[in-house]
Amino acid sequence: IDQAPTPFYYTTDDEARLLLRRRDKFSHKGTFGHALLLVGSYGKMGAAVLAARACLRSGVGLLTVQVPHCGYEVLQTAVPEAMCRPDVNERVLTGPSEVDGPALADYSALGLGPGIGKAPETVRFLREVMTAFNRPMVIDADALNLIAEHRDLMGLLPENSILTPHPKEFERLTQRWQNDYDKLELLRDFAQRKQVIVVLKGAYTAVALPNGEVHFNSTGNPGMSTGGTGDVLTGVLTALLAQGYDPIEAAVLGVFAHGQAGDVAARERGQIGLTASDVVDGLRWD
Ligand code: AMP
Ligand code: MG
Repeated sequence: IDQAPTPFYYTTDDEARLLLRRRDKFSHKGTFGHALLLVGSYGKMGAAVLAARACLRSGVGLLTVQVPHCGYEVLQTAVPEAMCRPDVNERVLTGPSEVDGPALADYSALGLGPGIGKAPETVRFLREVMTAFNRPMVIDADALNLIAEHRDLMGLLPENSILTPHPKEFERLTQRWQNDYDKLELLRDFAQRKQVIVVLKGAYTAVALPNGEVHFNSTGNPGMSTGGTGDVLTGVLTALLAQGYDPIEAAVLGVFAHGQAGDVAARERGQIGLTASDVVDGLRWD
């Protein structure tokens, strides 16, 4: 009997391995892109540090991190491998920097959201960023909450961007669901309507694609239910986009590798004591 193909997939070890690119002998740091992370605010610089460290542990060539001015020394000290663009604003991201650097559109990839808070100045900045950088970007955390609260931003989402809500953030973007079936349909509908990739995080993270497919992830464990692990995922995904991975491949591979990193960390120290920093340390690509 012929059956209609279902749009549901399960990402296995073999599939993830097929997506991973090997390094060319004659490569140099320019080969692997220059990522920009827009992260952090007063009291939430840890999110910036975690995303930056994860990005560097995921193969990016160069990394610049834009943080509020108060985060300059934190970032430069905690992540010496990254360049830092301190915002002129002391506590939140507003855009202008004291440091010269490439124009926004010249970065290979952009990741934003972890720890940024919801200040009105940041909303303006977000609008500028989404207009200026008209390519797929990684959007997480308070950037998602701001988009949910300022619906005009929804129209600025670049096609094939990767959105990484946890269930509460996804509910803010859409609406409350009645049951799991309802939730899955809301997820597929959102990804198709907005033509974006939505990574709905949790056990068996669901990666919904613009074509209606949903790829469920097989890695990860409840030890990862702790603050900061989502910020690590933002860094991972941004690094993959910077290296030129197609956004769909980046999302499926990045989610898999992030869960696998959590599994490595859990083997080394168990689930209960696991921290987001352990997940960064658990990242293994080859
Ligand atoms: P966030 O809520 O933004 O910090 O993201 C949490 C991260 O941890 C996501 O990548 C989740 O997929 C992962 N995570 C949390 N709880 C679990 C779980 N029970 N099983 C697998 N992964 C989890
Ligand atoms: Mg989060």
